[in-house]
Amino acid sequence: MQELITTWAMAITTLTATLLLLLAIYTWPRGERRRCPGHRGWRTLWNPARWVRRSDCWQDLTGVPITPTDEIRCPECGRSTPIDRVLRDGRRIRLGLIGAVLAMLAIGSQIGVAAHSGRPLRSVPTLALVMLSNTAIGGHRTAVRQEVEQRVDDGTVAGFDARRLADVLVRDLRSDGRKWNANEAADALGRLWPDSKNALDRELVEGDVQSRKIAAVILRSRDQTGSRELFIASVDDLRDDGDASAGWLLQRNARAAGEYLINHYWEAPELIRAVLDSDDAQQCRLAMAICGFSGDTTVVERVVPVLIDSLRDNDIYGDARCAAPAVFNFGPPAIEYLRPFVDDPDRQLRETVRSIIERLEHPDRAWDECENRLPRITSTTHDPLALDFWTASGG
Ligand SMILES: [Zn+2]
Repeated sequence: MQELITTWAMAITTLTATLLLLLAIYTWPRGERRRCPGHRGWRTLWNPARWVRRSDCWQDLTGVPITPTDEIRCPECGRSTPIDRVLRDGRRIRLGLIGAVLAMLAIGSQIGVAAHSGRPLRSVPTLALVMLSNTAIGGHRTAVRQEVEQRVDDGTVAGFDARRLADVLVRDLRSDGRKWNANEAADALGRLWPDSKNALDRELVEGDVQSRKIAAVILRSRDQTGSRELFIASVDDLRDDGDASAGWLLQRNARAAGEYLINHYWEAPELIRAVLDSDDAQQCRLAMAICGFSGDTTVVERVVPVLIDSLRDNDIYGDARCAAPAVFNFGPPAIEYLRPFVDDPDRQLRETVRSIIERLEHPDRAWDECENRLPRITSTTHDPLALDFWTASGG
């Protein structure tokens, strides 16, 4: 709090000094020489009124006769002034002097704070830095941005400042050829949550491919309520985006999207059903698993026969581990589509199907009480049917 007051006091001083100096230049006395300067000399320093006013007399000397020694005697205060020392008409206040003193105070304290903290912009108010962040001098890796990021790390940016800053940072998420700026922006946006929510929501719609994906990652990790835009973005994230830049930010992106879609499945199931026959193999496969884990029995007829193919003993690592619990989570409606395979020549498929049917028909039996045991489709658990989507789809 004290720091905030100091910061703002210094900012206001700087601003006032600048305004006074500009005003002093603008109103520089250019009029006729006709004002009495009053007393001159060192003694004026002891009179505070003279720090502000240019003269303690200011009598208009127009028409007063000039003495043979080229002096004018003021009829008001009685002092004699050489004709070239008479003051020009204009403002009566020493704006320039006041401005200069204030500027020296402000500059002095800025230097003091900067030297003391090792942060040259320490004393600049957050609002000013945030406004500058929107310009060229406040871009990525500038002193302005570094100071802003430091304050975000300290947790001192909130409210209006944070929302404006988030508006700037989301643009750094876009693909622009600069290294790491998206990473740092993503980091800061996470810290600014929940003030960054609106900016991220907007970027989901207005951003480029990269920034939409990163915004979705941040939103999914923070937002418990979700939105239709995030849902749509997550369906898109199921695609295989191995070639996307900023890949390190999007690791396990598709899995995280899938988990989000399962948690929010019933808000827009039609959007997931729509990609069940997608041209992207990964999106297709994950969408089917998501339907299964969500227990969407309206598509059981379409999905189970495809998933069953993954249960065969093949060389694709981990696909049975994901397909088995997905089929199982459809519940009893899946049984009629499993029956035709109970005597399949493929041993892994046959045993898995029998095991799933028994578990669905006898939900009271634990995995080790069943007659039909699941073959070892994964080494990580004894009961793969109980896996959740995140674990089941993990590599
Ligand atoms: Zn006078």
